[in-house]
Amino acid sequence: MKILVVNAGSSSLKYQLFDMGQGAVLAKGNCERIGIDGRITHKRPGKEDFSAAPAFPDHRAAIGYVLGLLTAPAHGVIESVEEIAAVGHRFAHGGEKLRESAVLGDEELEYLESIVGLNPLHGPPAISGFKACRAEMPNVKHVGVFDTSYYATLPDYAYIYPLPYELYEEKKIRRYGFHGTSHRYVAGKAQELLGDPNAKIVTCHLGNGSSITATVNGKAVDTSMGFTPQDGVPMGTRSGALDPTVVTYLMKTCKLSAEETEKVLNEKSGLLGISGVSSDCRDVEEAANAGNKRAELAMRILVHNVKKLIGAYYAEMNGIDALVFTAGIGENDRALRADVCRDLSALGVEIDEEVNATCPRGEICDLSKKGARAKTFVIPTNEEYMIALDTLSLALGK
Ligand code: ADP
Repeated sequence: MKILVVNAGSSSLKYQLFDMGQGAVLAKGNCERIGIDGRITHKRPGKEDFSAAPAFPDHRAAIGYVLGLLTAPAHGVIESVEEIAAVGHRFAHGGEKLRESAVLGDEELEYLESIVGLNPLHGPPAISGFKACRAEMPNVKHVGVFDTSYYATLPDYAYIYPLPYELYEEKKIRRYGFHGTSHRYVAGKAQELLGDPNAKIVTCHLGNGSSITATVNGKAVDTSMGFTPQDGVPMGTRSGALDPTVVTYLMKTCKLSAEETEKVLNEKSGLLGISGVSSDCRDVEEAANAGNKRAELAMRILVHNVKKLIGAYYAEMNGIDALVFTAGIGENDRALRADVCRDLSALGVEIDEEVNATCPRGEICDLSKKGARAKTFVIPTNEEYMIALDTLSLALGK
């Protein structure tokens, strides 16, 4: 059974074709510069990568090209498009109605179009990607998997902001949470590793964008991202949580426009803003190790904020059975993991520094010190596989 997973951005379309029987990726790639000129990189395990620069005036042209490539004798992995049993689409936002993954019909499409205001950056391209795929593959089911839906279980006191209640009721201003597909995947793996479906788990997805989620009994109970993916810990270029008056101060006193303010908060803050070096954690750490004080400060601020949320979620859940690190920084940055876990023994978190330092990349790794009350795991995330699994079960009832 073959499932195609599509993740469409404003000028990009990433894809992965899974063979679900083997749980293997047959091919994956990325179409870039859609609407500009066009570029594609196409990869198949064990084979040479293929790149080209075809014209991609829109998402439909890109997906059409991808389907051609997947079936082409030279670069393909299937004989015909008919072999693709269903298509899974990643959506950042499912609003309040799409509380779980769903087969996408006209009603769902209409709802997704009605909430683009909540998600102006990612909503429109994801919708165009879906429409393009549906036009090219009208005979299969298309499933939407929403980053927000993992947070449908948040209690109201965790998702309602302490603002006038009408702003929630009328404007839908609330905590939605993001990266849910990744947190769901790694929390599920941690649950399996612990052999305890009721486990209290804190998952740290630390990448270019970062978020932390608390899960009990397989259900999310709190998360650091909020109304938008701007909230929570500092990220590559995003500030994370701030005193909200900083925003109005920037506008009123520093005379920035709304757009300029957004640019500061989204594109000029976080690791980049503090260090002045880069948004990429590797560059910032390298500079810190070479004695750059602001780079060192940026890393300290990140670690401080991650620890603070782990503590908060410990308090909310009255314990932690497992702490999980995932995504680019969480999976690869041993020094950061060691810094976050330092002095967390009061919460039961203690890691074996030797194991942490030698933990092989790309694999699940148990970092816990012998006898630690809580387990600490590195679990590589796999959002695409999670989307493929949901697609398989919804489209085909498996
Ligand atoms: P995205 O949110 O774009 O999917 P990723 O999850 O790929 O991002 O994470 C990107 C981040 O991971 C970057 O800040 C990068 O520096 C960091 N990263 C990747 N490898 C390492 C490493 N070996 N050490 C430290 N940071 C790393």
